[in-house]
Amino acid sequence: MGSKPLADWTAVLVDVIAAATARLPDDVMAAIRAGRGREAPGSLAAMALDAIVKNADLACNGRAPMCQDTGVPIFWIHHPVGVSTGMLLRACDEAVRRATAQQLLRENAVDTLTGRNTGTGQASSIPSVHCAEWERPEVKIELLLKGGGCENVSAQYSLPDRALGADRNLEGARKVVLDAVHQAQGRGCGPGILGVCLGGDRGSGYHEAKYQLMRRLDDENPAPELAALERRLLDEANQLGIGPMGFGGKTTVLGVKIGTLGRVPASYFVSIAYLCWAARRATALVGSNGDVTWPS
Ligand code: SF4
Repeated sequence: MGSKPLADWTAVLVDVIAAATARLPDDVMAAIRAGRGREAPGSLAAMALDAIVKNADLACNGRAPMCQDTGVPIFWIHHPVGVSTGMLLRACDEAVRRATAQQLLRENAVDTLTGRNTGTGQASSIPSVHCAEWERPEVKIELLLKGGGCENVSAQYSLPDRALGADRNLEGARKVVLDAVHQAQGRGCGPGILGVCLGGDRGSGYHEAKYQLMRRLDDENPAPELAALERRLLDEANQLGIGPMGFGGKTTVLGVKIGTLGRVPASYFVSIAYLCWAARRATALVGSNGDVTWPS
């Protein structure tokens, strides 16, 4: 597998992009449908969720992007010794250019100084690629397409937060996460999914918060206190009455996923990566024989 050429990796990565852009994961669809079932018939919330389900079905059947904003592609790649990180980085860039030419992705990258669209979907740090070596023989490719609207309502808090009465503990974290949902008010195309990181610094905190968004909504956090906090926050966020797109209702958040990083004594950050209902994620495993499998 280490000798697999750049073109082969590019082809696999285009397939991963195609899988993410057109298909919502089954756990996300199940959460949207469950929310629809809780909303009052004929309400704006019910209609918004019906439109989301219809849109997702159309995209899946037509192998087309489910939203005009195909987002920032964020790749996490774990690979064994012998696979070149530099080659994987080049393959990710080329895969994004190819997927954009095939209209799997929108021309979604802008040169910040000139304001000009690059036209290829690719620019400095777009895609965002994070490679790490591991002991396993296969390569694991994970992709999140993170839309701009929901990125705009992501938030980071430095505890203690006197205004919110949030101290440096799980209760303080609970208060600021709920504040972030309240501040968003359905913007960023709710119902949303919250990836949360406790600790780290301003950079690593947001990165880990985004990686939490790769978890299935129906998984169980291995840390019992975080599992309890995830369940409580989901319940409390959905009692805020904000609802899909801010139309009111019971479906404000589809899931809450919390991780932790170490921190220095001087800092206690809570980073909240807000993801819209278009939770486009995909995972592929490339075996040592080159076979590709797709864990859910
Ligand atoms: S926030 Fe999500 S659903 Fe809304 S426009 Fe952006 S990518 Fe699309």
